[in-house]
Amino acid sequence: MAQILIVEDEERIASFVAKGLRAEGHQPTISPDGPSGLDEALSGRYDLMVLDIGLPGMDGFEVLDQLRSQGSRMPVIILTARDSVTDTVTGLDAGADDYMAKPFRFAELMARVRLRLRTASGGDGAAFEDELVVRGIRLDRRTRRVSTPAGDEELSAREFTLAEMFFLNPGQVLTREQLLDHVWGYDFDPGSNVVDVYVGYLRKKLGVDAIATVRGVGYRLNT
Ligand code: CA
Repeated sequence: MAQILIVEDEERIASFVAKGLRAEGHQPTISPDGPSGLDEALSGRYDLMVLDIGLPGMDGFEVLDQLRSQGSRMPVIILTARDSVTDTVTGLDAGADDYMAKPFRFAELMARVRLRLRTASGGDGAAFEDELVVRGIRLDRRTRRVSTPAGDEELSAREFTLAEMFFLNPGQVLTREQLLDHVWGYDFDPGSNVVDVYVGYLRKKLGVDAIATVRGVGYRLNT
């Protein structure tokens, strides 16, 4: 579990990112403007910051610049508008570790968050466990493979992100909406049956009994 600071003035994006981070077991905090974001960032309480560039009060470049000039080495992932190459280059020059172009999919942001937390913790530590095990099924987060008594299977990126959410919340009912938001992103049609289709794929690889259907609500990884 990591403490993650989200500095973002667009409420919809901030709460979407926060919700997803919480589902992954992290503790997110939102700052809606530059000055409060910088204050929070300098508190030393956070493991990583997700930083928007266009912010009221003080833009993301200045937040980053002040943070680095005060000696903080906290990993920073900046959010830029799509096609804004200048923003990206300036951000990386100013000391950002990574960037995401908006609009982004949640799974892509999570992949970067995981990478940055791992790098910051020297490749081990409490922030990240390489292997998740539930009822004898092993999910390897480095290789994206599952091992069951019936054998090993490779998961696609989407299958992995879905499986990981189940393994991080074993025995808990996850709603279709939670799964859709987390794996496919907020821009996906909520009427789609894509979650059901992918749960079907996972059952083929994890075993038919691994994931239970909770009628009218969603799914649960059996423990
Ligand atoms: Ca903004």
